[in-house]
Amino acid sequence: MLPLRRSVQVLTGLVLSAALVGCGGGDKHAAPAPGASSVPSTAAARTPSSVPPSAAPTLPAAPGGLTPVFSHGKRDGGKHIALTFDADMTVDEDKRAARGERFDNPELVATLRRLKVPATVFMTGKWAEQYPDQARSIGADPLFEVANHSYSHHAFATPCYGLPAVAPGSARDDVERASAAFKRAGVERAVPYFRFPGGCYDDSALRTVAPTGVTAVQWDVVSGDAFAKQAGPVAKQVLSQVKPGSVVVMHCTRSAAPVTEEAVRTVVAELRSRGYEFVRVSDLIAAR
Ligand SMILES: [Zn+2]
Repeated sequence: MLPLRRSVQVLTGLVLSAALVGCGGGDKHAAPAPGASSVPSTAAARTPSSVPPSAAPTLPAAPGGLTPVFSHGKRDGGKHIALTFDADMTVDEDKRAARGERFDNPELVATLRRLKVPATVFMTGKWAEQYPDQARSIGADPLFEVANHSYSHHAFATPCYGLPAVAPGSARDDVERASAAFKRAGVERAVPYFRFPGGCYDDSALRTVAPTGVTAVQWDVVSGDAFAKQAGPVAKQVLSQVKPGSVVVMHCTRSAAPVTEEAVRTVVAELRSRGYEFVRVSDLIAAR
């Protein structure tokens, strides 16, 4: 059984998800009826994964020069869904990795490839250092795009579910250090999107990372995959929340999210039967 401390440390997003679901209002009615007609679809004519990483669109800066934040795509732009997977690894977890704990999830990546599901992977720099071959392979696969989830997976705003705060004055450096780690691992191109560890940010954090030119990417659907022991409830939670344009947060960290691969198989089959198409975050941003 995983100690609570670990769950807090690794999976911030999950805890956060509960809070988001709680304030989401109409989420329970989000899933469209099977066969429900989609939206006028001229705007939806783009093919999935049609945006090459080098041309990944960003949002304009928010007022005050703050980093813009993207949480979901157009609701009337077609039944498109972006699955996102956070490859979490904090700076001290390499010691646990050295003892055999797995923070990667090659089975999940293989399933996404087999099912031809485009996805966006928010990778920490530490993860890329620990698993350079996988990082390079994901980065080279046109099905996927690699985005930035910080180097250290420390909090950019506190409190943040027990995550230690990034050192004062080093937040921007932490983002750039992750980009450098991707390059060292052989990831040729990463998209200019950044997910705050734990999803925790404030205006100060948005101002600090703005010079890097990233768009911050949050989500509107929390899968609850972190530390879940059964795939069924995770799939059910996703299926009950998704809407056209949704961004779903999941994890690509086997030790912290062991049932994600199984949940993804269910989610993909069911959403495709409802007429949904999987795209990457860049496709949602491009279509907005
Ligand atoms: Zn994370």
